Amino acid sequence: MSSMDEQPKHDDLKKKKRRFSIIPKDDPNQATRIRRFFSASAAYALNLGLSYAAYVWGMMDWQAIAGFLVLIPAINIILYIIFRTGLNLKFRDPSLTIIQMCAAILVTMYGMYFANEARGILLLVYILILIFGIYKLNTRSFLYISTFTLVTYGIDIALLNHFRSDSINLNVEYLQFLVLSLILVAFSVIGGHISSLRRNLRISRAELEKSLAIIKEMSIHDDLTGVYNRRHLMELLEHEHHRISRGGARFSVAMLDIDHFKSVNDTHGHLTGDEVLKAVSDVIRSSLRSADFCGRYGGEEFLLVMTQTNINGALLCAERIRSTIEQNRFPNMGVDFRVTVSLGVTEYTGKEDIPTMIARADKALYCAKESGRNRVESNNAA
Ligand code: GH3
Ligand code: MG
Ligand code: MG
Repeated sequence: MSSMDEQPKHDDLKKKKRRFSIIPKDDPNQATRIRRFFSASAAYALNLGLSYAAYVWGMMDWQAIAGFLVLIPAINIILYIIFRTGLNLKFRDPSLTIIQMCAAILVTMYGMYFANEARGILLLVYILILIFGIYKLNTRSFLYISTFTLVTYGIDIALLNHFRSDSINLNVEYLQFLVLSLILVAFSVIGGHISSLRRNLRISRAELEKSLAIIKEMSIHDDLTGVYNRRHLMELLEHEHHRISRGGARFSVAMLDIDHFKSVNDTHGHLTGDEVLKAVSDVIRSSLRSADFCGRYGGEEFLLVMTQTNINGALLCAERIRSTIEQNRFPNMGVDFRVTVSLGVTEYTGKEDIPTMIARADKALYCAKESGRNRVESNNAA
């Protein structure tokens, strides 16, 4: 008990001791978002390098580089803090796709203003930015982003025309603007299509996983009573057998059979018989410890497996179940309606296979039936 009390304290200590990591280790979704953010940061760095080359070759003004050197680290640091503190989780899209794209578009808008001859080349950067939204955005969001891109580019042209008209050829800019519009529309349609394909794929995968979980549940449980079916019961039992064979503790089994069940069906109908089966399985389930398990072995026969239990413990447990079922009342059936069960109990000897042990439990059950029913018998090899 005391060691259990100490457990949370120990966990707290471990949490405090846990070192800071650049990418969180405890949340795979956040880790993916931060990794994606880092790939955007790498694209920024690449653009910074290319812009510097454009500056060295005389195609860009120094103000572009100076501005980039302030804007790019600032945006990246702020975004990283938002991701790493989990602030991004407060947004509808925790990946902050649109925010990241808008920030990159604004940085590009700034660079365009000082780009001179490199302005046409910088248009390709917009494509690069849009690629980041390709898995996330639908066509409508893509169209919003495209409009935002065109507005920022339009503002650039207007400002350049007003303040630095000598550095701009309006006809070329108009042509570039039109080509960019066309590309953005095409991107919005195709990108939106890719996103919706991806979304549909995710939905189908989730549905498939749900169906598989349901099928798995159905394949191991008995429909009527909800306890394990015979096939799964035998799998678990073989597993227990292997565990014990490798030097584990002992275990016992009990075969339970409802007494005169045929006459319940004959007198009260099959539906009542089903109700009785459910009630009996409920009693068994609630009487077993969590380490034990049980399943429907046949029509009205249940096999109970009591792990780490010797024959004496198993007899006590079987007797408790027998007596609980005997005292159980069925509200729909009147006060006199009673059901009793017989149980055959046996302990695993350590050097036999599962069918041999079950046959021994069956024999003990037969003895219980022969001795008048509503009783527990054991039958262990000496
Ligand atoms: P005993 O005390 O010797 O065990 O007598 P019994 O009548 O219980 O034994 P028997 O094996 O003759 O009867 C078993 C009955 O269980 C026969 C069968 O119709 C019934 N049964 C098996 N599966 C189901 C089921 O899913 N629902 C219902 N209602 N009855 C079932
Ligand atoms: Mg039977
Ligand atoms: Mg029976």
